[in-house]
Amino acid sequence: MLNVMKGLTDLEFERLYSTEEVCIEALMVARREAGMACPSCSHTRNYLCGRRVGCTCCNRRWSVTAGTVMSGTKLPLTIWFRAMHIMTSTKQGVSAIELGRRLGVSYPTAWYLAKRLRRAMTEREARYLLGGSGPDGAPVVVEADDVYLGGERNQGSGPGGKTRMIAATERYEGGRMGHVAMRTVVGFTSRAVRAFADTCLMPAVRVHTDGLKAFLAFGTPARSHVVTVSGSKRPSRQRTAPFHGLNTAIANLSTALKATHKAIAPQHTSDYLGAFCWTTNRRHNMFGMIPAACRAVATSSILTRRRAYAEIPVLLG
Ligand SMILES: [Zn+2]
Repeated sequence: MLNVMKGLTDLEFERLYSTEEVCIEALMVARREAGMACPSCSHTRNYLCGRRVGCTCCNRRWSVTAGTVMSGTKLPLTIWFRAMHIMTSTKQGVSAIELGRRLGVSYPTAWYLAKRLRRAMTEREARYLLGGSGPDGAPVVVEADDVYLGGERNQGSGPGGKTRMIAATERYEGGRMGHVAMRTVVGFTSRAVRAFADTCLMPAVRVHTDGLKAFLAFGTPARSHVVTVSGSKRPSRQRTAPFHGLNTAIANLSTALKATHKAIAPQHTSDYLGAFCWTTNRRHNMFGMIPAACRAVATSSILTRRRAYAEIPVLLG
């Protein structure tokens, strides 16, 4: 437990990322790792000149933030890095109002900044498939469940105002939880379950669920599906009990959303889920959160303010 709670303190953060130069350098490291090629000649060797990157072959220059969620930003990178630190160091997450207050920027600026960081994390999580082998090659099973999100203060998304989602976690022998994935769905239908499996799971994995009929769609010639009926409504508190890790992740999500958002707007839910999973999946390396956030940004795509405001809900199925 101590490992999980350890992290970069505010003081350590200030010491490590106090200047614009250090932040530019950290982002540059992540962008080079991700393979940044010159937009003119595709050459991959480059140099840094202030906030701009130059091609060593044709001398074309571009911004260190170009082509990512940070593209076109007027904010100093120190503000972006502080936002990364605030957003990844609290389990409960942070509202845009609170973020704006702590960064000393306006609410719309904080909202757009947080939206873009969440998007970068969501895009990173979209590339991970649950159900590979464990750290020591141990077999892993995936546990999945249907979840209704919110609804009390948000009557806009379907009957009862609830958003439906499927959540899944990897589970190693002995009960330890691996990665978690969550996606909103149009409903708990076979089609939605297949879409979830196609986007979130490895092709040949063993999936455990409760007895929900639509979950039969997890079973394919390659993938096996096992129904585990726990027999009790109340989730077991034992770490080794079936669905323990999954239930904990769902409870943590519910707490985080209630603590930071008055209502969950359906068009932004997928990014909240993506950011929540991203942070949860990196909980064992709290010291590596800033470099990990830089890697997420380095592999992200542009999200303009206009597009961020005009989004439509992402629903599988
Ligand atoms: Zn070039």
